[in-house]
Amino acid sequence: MSLTLYDTATRALAKVSSTKDLTTIYCCGPTVYRDAHVGNLRTFLLSDLVRRTLELSGIKVKLIQNITDVGHMSEDLESEDKMLAQAKSEKTDPFAVARKYEARFHADLHNLNIRPADAYPRASESIDLMQTMIQELIEKGFAYVGDDKTVYFSAESFPGYGAISGNRLDALKPGHRYEYTEDGAKRFHADWALWKNAGERREMIWNSPWGAGFPGWHIECSAMSLDLLGGHINLHIGGIDLRFPHHENERAQSNAITGNESVDLWLHGEHLLFEGRKMSKSSGNVVLLTDVINRGFDPLAIRLCFLENRYRSQMDLTWAAIEAADATIKRWRKKIAIWGINEIDSSTEFLKIIENDLDTPRALQFLRNVEKDESHANRSGVFLFADQILGLDLARREEVKPLNQLQEALLAKREIARNEKRWEESDDLRQQLEATGLEIKDSSSGQTWDWL
Ligand code: AMP
Ligand code: ZN
Repeated sequence: MSLTLYDTATRALAKVSSTKDLTTIYCCGPTVYRDAHVGNLRTFLLSDLVRRTLELSGIKVKLIQNITDVGHMSEDLESEDKMLAQAKSEKTDPFAVARKYEARFHADLHNLNIRPADAYPRASESIDLMQTMIQELIEKGFAYVGDDKTVYFSAESFPGYGAISGNRLDALKPGHRYEYTEDGAKRFHADWALWKNAGERREMIWNSPWGAGFPGWHIECSAMSLDLLGGHINLHIGGIDLRFPHHENERAQSNAITGNESVDLWLHGEHLLFEGRKMSKSSGNVVLLTDVINRGFDPLAIRLCFLENRYRSQMDLTWAAIEAADATIKRWRKKIAIWGINEIDSSTEFLKIIENDLDTPRALQFLRNVEKDESHANRSGVFLFADQILGLDLARREEVKPLNQLQEALLAKREIARNEKRWEESDDLRQQLEATGLEIKDSSSGQTWDWL
C-alpha cells in the first residue's frame, strides 16, 4: 500500500516517494512573532497526518520544520521585519519575542497531539548555511549583488520559473508586489532578495561578504531543507498561500543549486475560515488553541474538526462544530472503555481510505459505521488502530461522574421491572432517571446509562 497526495506542481495525484525506505519531508514552520492561530495549526497538522500514515504502513520518515525568526517582512507598506515590529510593540528584544512564541508553538503542537519533527532549525542560527548557498548562486550565475548591496535572485536566469503556481514570468507584470520588501536595485521586477543590506537597521543583522544585513525568507527554506534532508526532498508541505511566491522562489533557488528537481511533491493545505471569514487580526476572528481550552473543550476537538474536512478543501470552523467534536471524542472514549480494550485490529480498509489522498472525512464515516455495527467483534480494536493516525487519544478514560444514591436505586429497580416485564413501570422509572440528568438506553444485553 502507498500514500497518494495531490501534487500542486503537476495538478494530479501522485505517490509519495521515498529514497530507500525513508521519506524526507519539509514543512514550512511558523514565523514566531505571534501565537499560531488554529488556521496555522491546520497546516501543521497536515504534516503530522502524512507522517503518521507513512509510519503506520512501515515507512521511515524524516521531518524538518523551520522556525522563521528573522527575515519575514510584513505585508504592509512599511515592509518591516515582522519580528522587529513585534519587539517594538512589546518593548523587548526581538530574540526574546522569538523564543516566547516558539515555546508557545511547541505547546500548541503538544496539545494537538502533533508528533515533534526531527529538527526545528532556526533561521537566525542558519546564517552561515544561507550565506554559503547565496555565494554558490552568485557563482553559478543565478544571483547578483545590486547597487544597494542587496543580493537578488535573477528570476529570468531560472528557466522553469512558475511551475508550481502557474505564474510564468511573461505573465508577471511589474507593479505587482511579488516580494514585499524592495524595488531597490533589482534588475527585473520579479527578482527577489536573498540577502538584504542592513541599511539603517541595527538589530538582527549579521556580517556577510556583501556587507552587514539579514537573509530573505525564501532562501531560509531552501538552505535548511537541502542541508538537513540530504539534498533531496520527497515531500514539501505548506499552506496554500505559500504556493506563490514563497514556494515558487524556493524551488528556483533549490533547483538552481542541485541542478535537478529538488522536491518530488508539493503539498498544500487549504485555508481555514472561522465563522465564514478568513481568520485574520483585521477581521477580529483569530482563534487560538488556548481559547478553545479556556472554553473548557478538549483541544483535540479541534483536531477532530480538521479531520472532518479534507485537507485540500477550504473549511469553515465554528464554535458549534468544536462543541460537537468535543462531545464525539468523549462519546468514543466512553464507548471504547465499555467495549473493552482488545487487541488492535489492523484495519486495512481504514488505512486504504486514508492513503487515498488523506480522505479523513470518509475514514471518519467508516468509523461511525463500525460504531453502529453491534455485530462487530472488535470495535475498540478498529478505533484504536485508526487512532494511531487520528491522534484523538481514544484510549483515554473519560472521567465519569459517579451516580448518586437515588440514581443507583432507580436503576436497580428498573432492571428488576424489566426482567419481570413490567413495561409501564420501567417506562415510568426511565422518566424519573432522565429527570436526574441520565440518558437510558435498552438493548438485548440490558440497560445502559450515560450523563445527558
Ligand atoms: P506563518 O506563521 O504566518 O508563516 O504561517 C504558518 C503556516 O500557516 C503557513 O504554512 C501558512 O500557509 C499557514 N496558514 C496561514 N493562515 C492559514 C489559515 N487561515 N488556514 C490554514 N493555514 C494557514
Ligand atoms: Zn518555507
